[in-house]
Amino acid sequence: MTNPDRKPLIAGNWKMHKTHTDAIQFAQKLHYALEERDYERQEICICAPFTDLRTLQTLFDADRMSFELGAQDVFWEQKGAFTGEISPVMLAALDIRYVIVGHSERRQFFGDTNEVVARKARAVVDQGMAAIVAVGENEDQREAGDAESTVARQLSESLDGCTDMTPEQLVVAYEPIWAIGTGRVASTDDAEEMCTLIRRELGGLLSPSVAAGVRVLYGGSVKSGNVENLMARDDIDGALVGGASLDPAEFARILTVW
Ligand code: PEP
Repeated sequence: MTNPDRKPLIAGNWKMHKTHTDAIQFAQKLHYALEERDYERQEICICAPFTDLRTLQTLFDADRMSFELGAQDVFWEQKGAFTGEISPVMLAALDIRYVIVGHSERRQFFGDTNEVVARKARAVVDQGMAAIVAVGENEDQREAGDAESTVARQLSESLDGCTDMTPEQLVVAYEPIWAIGTGRVASTDDAEEMCTLIRRELGGLLSPSVAAGVRVLYGGSVKSGNVENLMARDDIDGALVGGASLDPAEFARILTVW
């Protein structure tokens, strides 16, 4: 059972899906599906495209929907001549609670290095939001027995300059790249082993007491059929959910089956 000192966080990552009108429909359907839900039991976050954030913020406020709002990326500067970028100040002004940094798709397609991830995480926290720092090994690294060393290195480099962060400011998502969008979820034992490793590393980077409070999520082909087993493990404090978060009925099941 997830440690009672850490409130489980289930975050949907919509990636590049849903216009702002799709987002309205989704939120209404999810809210309806969860009407009887005890929102104190878990935190629910929607990490939506930038173009949906204002719409969702207005809707959550107006209809008192108890969902947190998240962004999928950010630039580290507060303002300036950075055409096409979104600043952490802009996100904070929209009541964004969480910002994912270092998702493997950002690392793979947009060249986000550990150094870039660390700068983004710092910028997020400096504006009063929390960073969800994503790490994870690829298939070759796992097959070579290098999963643990890869993730430990990613974590320490992605948190360079961030070691004063508190459990309210930092979440880590363990997302094995071979499990993202493939339908190949990590075994519950492997997922927990890696989340435990991450907490141990955080103990050295931050402090053991801070590490004990930081939530470590698993991400990679989470669905309603496998989330219960994952959430039964002590060191897995929630999930980052991609594909299965796009369907409000399936996302509602993920939130309610455990
Ligand atoms: C993700 O994008 O973070 C993710 C885990 O995707 P999926 O759930 O589709 O594997």
